[in-house]
Amino acid sequence: MNITDLRSDTVTRPTPDMLQAMFAAQVGDDVYQEDPTINALEQKAAALFGLEAGLFCPSGTMTNQIAIKAHTEPMTEVICDITAHIYQYEGGGIMFNSGASVALVHGERGKMTPAQVEAHIRPDNIHYPPTRLVALENTCNKGGGSYYTLAEIAAISEVCKRHGIALHLDGARVFNALIASGENPQEYGKYFDSISICLSKGLGAPVGSLLLGKQDFIKKSRRIRKVLGGGIRQGGYLAAAGIYALDHHVERLAEDHAKAKQLETVLNEADYVEFVLPVQTNIVIFKLNDRYKDADFVAALAENNIRASSFGPQMVRFVTHLDVSDEMLQHVLQVLHTLNKKQVEV
Ligand SMILES: *Cc1c(COP(=O)(O)O)cnc(C)c1O
Repeated sequence: MNITDLRSDTVTRPTPDMLQAMFAAQVGDDVYQEDPTINALEQKAAALFGLEAGLFCPSGTMTNQIAIKAHTEPMTEVICDITAHIYQYEGGGIMFNSGASVALVHGERGKMTPAQVEAHIRPDNIHYPPTRLVALENTCNKGGGSYYTLAEIAAISEVCKRHGIALHLDGARVFNALIASGENPQEYGKYFDSISICLSKGLGAPVGSLLLGKQDFIKKSRRIRKVLGGGIRQGGYLAAAGIYALDHHVERLAEDHAKAKQLETVLNEADYVEFVLPVQTNIVIFKLNDRYKDADFVAALAENNIRASSFGPQMVRFVTHLDVSDEMLQHVLQVLHTLNKKQVEV
């Protein structure tokens, strides 16, 4: 029996067609900026988001951390939501790499309002670290795949511009947001000073993230990538997977969203679920009631060849992706159903 892995959309493996594209890549030395496939990917992604230049990196953690370092100096401050990946899941990198402090906003499902952002900007006073950067996450992982609309982004961008503060996007799953909202990535370039996108989440590439921004910002970021040891010499084999993913795996994210909706429906009817965060994209976060401890629930799924993530006390996360087939989804729905008490007793 195949394992259905719902722990994350990072677990996808390259498809046969993606592997073909990788084998066929033209490569060169990217530290000399001579890898034609990496150069093409960087330009393609920058143009897609209405920005000038791009930088290919091994991970989304690296693209976020480079951006934060490029926008800040030690003793300055970054504003983000308390659930943000840059704060929760990057190993304390803001402090270690940039020597910056963080102002945490208690937003709604990972989303900050313009008023909340403005309230956290520091006045010019010797006691406070100067605010240099605001970072949004779209979609919000810990928010259960919630997303900002362009109108919401525009309003936060207006606050940042008025205060002369840079705006960064952790867009690890920005394509999920764009597919769900039907909005145009071109617009993003008007509002963000830098954008990080991941190729190895829902898009299904094995490795890779891109940092996008203006020419001078990317030039500075390339120096920081060098210091972090993030240059991948003949990385064009990996960039080819990224180009393939942008060409073939964006529209299909709608299928992942539809599968997540089906999971939500069954979970909302289950007698072991306290609540499900309303599903907006490919992430399903739910809270168990006292019928199961989260570890026991995850173990019960594992006995049925389904993997899921414990996501805090009594919280469980499912993420749908390219490697969850229709048959696998049917299997999961059935198992979720049979875990109901009334079902078991029949
Ligand atoms: C996965 C993820 C990242 C980057 O993770 P890497 O594993 O370093 O590529 C950044 N932000 C969010 C919201 C993520 O989900």
